[in-house]
This record gives sequence, structure tokens and C-alpha cells, in this order.
Amino acid sequence: MVNTVNNPDTAIIGAGIGGLSAAIALQQIGQKVKVFERASELKEMGAGIVLSANAIKALGNLGVAEQVRQAGSPVKKAEIRTHDGQLIVNMPVHKQADRYGTYSYLIYRPELHRILYEKLEPDTVVLGKEFLRLEQDSEKITSAFEDGETFNSGLLIGADGVHSRVRQYIMEESKLRYSGFTAVRGISSYEDPRFPVELGGGFEAWGNGKRFGFSHIGKGRVFWFAAINTPRGSLVKEENKRYLALQQFQGWWGPIADVIDSTKEEDILVHEIYDRKPLKKWHKGRVTLLGDAAHPMLPNLGQGGAQAMEDALILARNFKQCTIEVEEALSQYEQERIPRVTKIIKGSRMMARMMQLENPAAMMVRNQILRHVPDHFKINRLDWILGYKA
Ligand SMILES: Cc1cc2nc3c(=O)[nH]c(=O)nc-3n(C[C@H](O)[C@H](O)[C@H](O)COP(=O)(O)OP(=O)(O)OC[C@H]3O[C@@H](n4cnc5c(N)ncnc54)[C@H](O)[C@@H]3O)c2cc1C
Repeated sequence: MVNTVNNPDTAIIGAGIGGLSAAIALQQIGQKVKVFERASELKEMGAGIVLSANAIKALGNLGVAEQVRQAGSPVKKAEIRTHDGQLIVNMPVHKQADRYGTYSYLIYRPELHRILYEKLEPDTVVLGKEFLRLEQDSEKITSAFEDGETFNSGLLIGADGVHSRVRQYIMEESKLRYSGFTAVRGISSYEDPRFPVELGGGFEAWGNGKRFGFSHIGKGRVFWFAAINTPRGSLVKEENKRYLALQQFQGWWGPIADVIDSTKEEDILVHEIYDRKPLKKWHKGRVTLLGDAAHPMLPNLGQGGAQAMEDALILARNFKQCTIEVEEALSQYEQERIPRVTKIIKGSRMMARMMQLENPAAMMVRNQILRHVPDHFKINRLDWILGYKA
């Protein structure tokens, strides 16, 4: 086993968006890669995900943007309304698409996973392999799995999500921070003439400490989500999820109750939302982190998946460009990534506070301000996120 960047065999823990993207990016530069995933089959949670311009650019570099466009739905309409349906903002999605050369896309998560998975060389992903711990010496990293097997590699990437075990090896566990809200997400085949499929996209309605959003995600599916301010531990239930969601949005704008009502109980997910304080270092020796394992963020800027893909590309680029030691390439990777994701973690928190306001006077002021923000300001404000090319 060698430990220069020219030829490290790489182990990736976790086959989420981050792990699969990293495997593609490393295979593109000729690295040997194995991805170890604890789930026995590759099925992502049945929700939708928005892929903004920077994510589409990253997917282009991974060689799958066209497949994603085919399988997803372009966001050609993005309105923000009050809880009873009055328009606050019509997002300038066409102008944004002109600037970045692409619309944002919404896609069913399992479709995105399938596309990434199919881009990999055969037998890259090993399923049913739960990573337990690792040891590292000057020659190799030895990963130990729950089934008693071990695997040696020259580099290890922890892409094992928000509760990452690899992260525990790199640093003392830092506490999760509760966002103050619970997310409820559903998939259905609801149809509404106000939101025709060919227009793509949809709306968000903002009420008192609650938000509801609805969008097309391609292939006749719609995705809805709700973010509800709640004390920790109070809303997550295994049963009656549809009833619970309907109760929360009683009296809201017309399509909301209908779309919830059209959803099967098993197609509804309820999760409390957390992030962590940004880290200052992601690696120890030849072990590093990527995606939510490195930087879990609130979903309010829709960037968690996008940032995992950007990580993957930048990591691979640092390996490709250098003829240096692995550790130096890992340092360069995190120096490039940490400032950007730290800003996005903080930005997502700020957005969450603004979106989940409860005070009626503050909400009125917010809505009035938003109504008068010119399009160019809305676009420029997000340019540092969406205009980035990994
Ligand atoms: C409500 C909500 C909405 C969101 N919306 C968006 C959005 O619109 N756009 C966007 O870009 N992002 C969004 N995100 C964020 C996005 O979902 C995540 O940032 C992204 O999925 C992170 O990918 P990942 O690969 O880093 O981690 P994960 O998706 O968590 O994948 C980790 C993988 O590692 C595996 N694993 C874990 N532990 C082990 C182990 N010990 N051994 C082996 N395997 C293991 C897991 O099974 C899993 O497959 C949203 C998140 C939430 C919660």
C-alpha cells in the first residue's frame, strides 16, 4: 500500500450523495475506490431534493447532469405566499436560469441515487457493510466492519452522514444543535391546474412558525414538505402522520390540505432537523470527512447535497493536481472547503430564523420587505452560492 496521492486505494464509508459522488470523482482521475454502505440495499428516503445551479454544475462534472435533468423537473415557478395564499414573492427563476445556464431541478432522491450509482464502475459499492472503527499506521488504514471483516486502504473518506463514526475518530464528538423545527415530507401524484407539470416548481406558504412547500419532482410525482416549530421530541410519530400534518395546516391555502390528503401514510417522513457547529479541521492523518459527516447544515438554503458533491470534486481535484503526500492534499482540500461550508451553515441558520418567524409583527415587516426587493438583488444575494463552480 502506498501513501502518496498518486495511487492510494481509497475506502469510502457511506453510499449517500456524498460517498457516491466522491467515488465517481476519484474514479474519474483513475483511483481505485471501494464504498462501504451499511444498508443492505441502496434505497434513499423517498423525498424530493432541490438541485440548484451549483449542484447541477457539480453533477455536470460528475458526468450525470443530463440524466438528472431527464429524471427531474425544472423549477420554472417558485412563489412565496402567506399561509392563506397571498403572493409575497415570485422568485426570478428565469433570470436566474439565464445567468447560470440552467434552471434548478427537483428530483426524487432515489432517482438521484440510482443515477450516481450507475455511473460507478461495477462492484464499487459493497452493501450490508457497517463500519465500526479504524486504525491507522504509516502504511495503511485498517477499517473494521460489523461482520468481523477488515479492509486496508491508503486513504479513508468518512461520508457516513450526520452521525458519522469516522468523525468520532477525527475529533471529540461535537453536539448536534436542534434547529427548533421538525420537517414533514411527503410524495404523492397530486395534480392541480394552478401548478401544471409543464411549469415545474411550485410554491411555499409561510405562516406563524410554520412553512409548507410543494413542487413537481418529475415522472408525475409531487413532493411537499412542511417545517413546523416544535419543542424537541414533541412531533415525531410513527403513526397518523398524514392526520398530524393535516391538523397543522388546517385553514391554510387551498392546495395544501389537498396535497397532504392525497399522500399515502407510508410516503410521509417526519424528522427533527439538526446541524452542528462548523469544524476547523476535517482530517487526521490520511482519514478525512465529506458531506454531512463534515458539515451538517439546516436545509433552509437547500445546499447539503450540493455541498457534498462540491466536496467530492474538490477533493479529487487536489489529488489530481498534486504529486504530494496524501495528508497535504487533504489539508488543501479542507482549506478550500471549510470557509465556504462554514458560511453556508451560518447562512442556513439565518434563513431558518427568517423563515420560521412566529411574531406576527415581525412576519408582517418581513413580508413587506420581501415584496419590495428587486429581482437583481434577490439574484445577487445568492450568487456566491449558486454561481460557484467546483
Ligand atoms: C428535510 C431536509 C431537506 C433537505 N433538502 C435538501 C435539498 O433540497 N437540497 C440539498 O442539496 N440538500 C438537502 N438536504 C441535505 C441533504 O439531504 C444532505 O446534506 C445529503 O443527503 C448529505 O449526503 P451525505 O452523503 O453526506 O450523507 P447521507 O445522505 O446521510 O449518507 C450517509 C450514508 O452513510 C451510511 N452510513 C452511516 N453510517 C455508516 C456506517 N457506520 N457504516 C457504513 N455506512 C454508514 C448511511 O446509511 C448513508 O447511506 C436536506 C436535508 C433534510 C434533512
